[in-house]
Amino acid sequence: MKFADLHLHTQFSDGTFTPEELVLHAQKQGLACIALTDHDTVEGCARAATACAAVQMEFIPGAELTAEHADTEVHILGYFLDTQNSVLLEKIARFQAVRQNRIREMVAALNQLGIPLQAGAVFALANCKSPGRPHVARALVKEKFIANIDEAFERYLKKGRPAWVPKTKMSALEGVGLIHQAGGLAIMAHPGLNRTDAIIPDLVDAGLDGIECFHTKHSTVMSERYLEIAEKHHLLVTGGSDCHGFSKKTPLIGTVRVPYAYVEKLKAKVAERKL
Ligand code: AMP
Ligand code: FE
Ligand code: FE
Ligand code: ZN
Repeated sequence: MKFADLHLHTQFSDGTFTPEELVLHAQKQGLACIALTDHDTVEGCARAATACAAVQMEFIPGAELTAEHADTEVHILGYFLDTQNSVLLEKIARFQAVRQNRIREMVAALNQLGIPLQAGAVFALANCKSPGRPHVARALVKEKFIANIDEAFERYLKKGRPAWVPKTKMSALEGVGLIHQAGGLAIMAHPGLNRTDAIIPDLVDAGLDGIECFHTKHSTVMSERYLEIAEKHHLLVTGGSDCHGFSKKTPLIGTVRVPYAYVEKLKAKVAERKL
């Protein structure tokens, strides 16, 4: 049987793998298909596509957009995106700038707390246009200001902690539209993690195509619950590991996988939309 992991990150956002390393690990896991879903960027997709083609693995170009609706943060996965789409590229460039400014604000907050971390150190470590809190956490560990990543989030970076800075986000309805106009499918990421159940009907009205029912942080009960919700709203179902590389012990890639039949359903919907 063929399987796919549809939620993966690389160094182009807060993952630690290059696209080539990601594909190598996907191969080791025996995956037939992967989707790259970096935060607010599609930059890694070209290299991942080339690496996949070299080993006859199917590749789905994607992204994970950070959005909000009714004061709720929601991550929206876009699949089968046209990575050259100018509207998409312009829009995500703006949110990459937001991310970069937020890094400076978080560093300033840490400086206020007496931690002399420099924004330049975070940017050098991140080396990407879409930096996030994990890069600040890694820089804190690298510069020995803190023992490990978890502690960095617990003490400083988690929502409500002293160096947490809110992020300006695009509206979720706009996110769904943005993905659609770039030829993609819009899927709500890990609803169990962000507790976004209440906003599902609004997003469905806006054209949401599916829900990520299977995710590393979803229990079996949660997955079943979201399968029911997906069925109720006639939504597609996806799943993936949300692997960020070696940032946490062994890489998660392949530990959450969906049968290839799920990918076929996604492709059928994309094809239908093109008619
Ligand atoms: P940001 O997009 O900058 O708000 O950072 C969010 C990212 O940080 C998520 O995608 C995860 O990769 C990571 N993250 C969030 N919470 C934690 C945590 N408690 N420990 C480690 N990583 C986390
Ligand atoms: Fe992340
Ligand atoms: Fe996410
Ligand atoms: Zn993710």
